[in-house]
Amino acid sequence: MRILVVEDEVRLAENLKAGIESVPSFVVDVSHDGEDGQHLALTEKYDAIVLDLMLPGIDGLSILRTIRDSGRDTPVLILTARNTTEDVIRGLDFGSDDYLGKPFEMGELLARIKALVRRSFHQTDPVLRVADLTIDTRSHVVSRADKSFPLPALEYRLLEYLGMRAGQVVSKEELLEHLYDYNWEKFSNVIEVYVSKLRSRIDRGHATQLIHTIRGQGYVLAESWEGQ
Ligand code: CA
Repeated sequence: MRILVVEDEVRLAENLKAGIESVPSFVVDVSHDGEDGQHLALTEKYDAIVLDLMLPGIDGLSILRTIRDSGRDTPVLILTARNTTEDVIRGLDFGSDDYLGKPFEMGELLARIKALVRRSFHQTDPVLRVADLTIDTRSHVVSRADKSFPLPALEYRLLEYLGMRAGQVVSKEELLEHLYDYNWEKFSNVIEVYVSKLRSRIDRGHATQLIHTIRGQGYVLAESWEGQ
């Protein structure tokens, strides 16, 4: 999952990036001003946006309105120092999905971002299940046939993304867009390498293969897939 943080206070923005990236599900792009933040929000593929209200350039509410006017339904969590009811109502009216007043606890922010992302994928249960595979999006523990095993962050991120979209074909381009931050050199063979690693951990030794390669299209996490 790729998160955009638009926050002009540099130290707070750095703390937000470090805190959010402490969760293996997430990579973070940071923007320190409204114009740059709006440009990124409209041109890159984010799974959630953490948006400060008071920003140089374009203010947060205007950015939010532009995002919604463009037809994007990316979950947006507003951060506000002006934690007044009026601001919160305006934010919600403009299409924000949640808000948090400064100062806040990182744990609360992380829980809210996770909930927003889950909701946007129509996943109500924090534990994703595909056949006998479970992905706990709270603890990041993955298990298959009741045997749990640790995954390196990028493999976990890849599996969680496929799990959120279980049963759907996910292209390599989508994986590159949602698993890496802006500064990463994006080569699709990197995805092949990680899918292969993940497959050896998830599927090796099991009669039912859960990660399916759809030639020329991408990958599906599913109990069965026609034409496999
Ligand atoms: Ca600010």
